[in-house]
Amino acid sequence: MKQALGRVDRRGFVGAVAALAVAAYCAPARVAWAATASAGPADPILIEDLVAANRILAQEQVVDGYGHVSVRHDKDPNRFLIARSLAPELVTADDIVELDLDGNLVGASGKKLYLERFIHSEIYKARPDVKSVVHHHSPAVIPFGITGVPLRPVYHMAAFVGLGVPLFEIRDVAGDSDLLVKSPELGRALAKVLGDKPAALMRGHGAVVVGGSIMESVGRSIYLQMNARLQAQAIAMGREVTYLSPGEVGKMDWQAGGYDRAWDLWKRKSMGRH
Ligand SMILES: [Zn+2]
Repeated sequence: MKQALGRVDRRGFVGAVAALAVAAYCAPARVAWAATASAGPADPILIEDLVAANRILAQEQVVDGYGHVSVRHDKDPNRFLIARSLAPELVTADDIVELDLDGNLVGASGKKLYLERFIHSEIYKARPDVKSVVHHHSPAVIPFGITGVPLRPVYHMAAFVGLGVPLFEIRDVAGDSDLLVKSPELGRALAKVLGDKPAALMRGHGAVVVGGSIMESVGRSIYLQMNARLQAQAIAMGREVTYLSPGEVGKMDWQAGGYDRAWDLWKRKSMGRH
C-alpha cells in the first residue's frame, strides 16, 4: 500500500515537474517575471504622454490592434516604459510597465508583454540619443519595403525622411521566419540597420520610428505614413517627382524636438475620446 502511494506520489511529482518545465519553456514568449529592481516611479506627465501616444497613433491609424510605442524612463536611461501586451487604443496608465534594456520586466510580475519588445530595448541600447520608439505596421509603408523603392521626402512635414530610411531585411539574419523581431539578436540586427537614422522600414512587416521625445517619434510616425501615401500617389502620376533637396532637409530646424503644436491637438483629441 505504502509502495503504491509512493508510486502515485512520484507520478504526481513527476507530472508537476513536467508541467512546470512546460510552463517555463512557454513563459518567455507570453509572460515575463520581474527580476531586477525598479528605477522608481516615472514622471506622471511622461506616463500621461505615453498613454496619449498610444491613442494618438490609433486615432491617426498608424497602428490598429497591433504596434507599440515606448519611452525611455526619466529616472534611469537603462529602463524604458511601454504598455503590457494590449491594443494601443485601449492603453491606460495602469497598463504601463517598466522594462530593462534586455527586454525583461522590472518592478511588477506576471504581465504579458509584447513579443517584439526587443525592437525597443536594443534601439535604446544602441542609441543614447533616442528617447522614444514606435513600431507600426502602417499599410502605406509596406509597398516601399517590398519593392525597394526608397522613401524620399515629398513635403516639408516629413523632411526627416531625407535623413534616410534604410530597409531591414530580416531574411539576412533569420532566414525564413515569422518576420517578428522577437529576440535580442533580431532587435540588435534591426538597430544596426537603423544606424543613426530617424526610421527604418521592415520588409513585409512595417517600420520602426525613433525620436528624442514621445512627441517626435509619434509625429514622425504620422508623417512617415503620410509621406509614403503622397509619394506613392506622385509616382503613380507618371511624371518626374521633385523631392525636397538635401539643402532643404537641412533647414527644417523647426521640426527639432517634434511637432509641439500638433501634439497638443492630437493629445486633446485622443484623450477626449475616452
Ligand atoms: Zn510588428
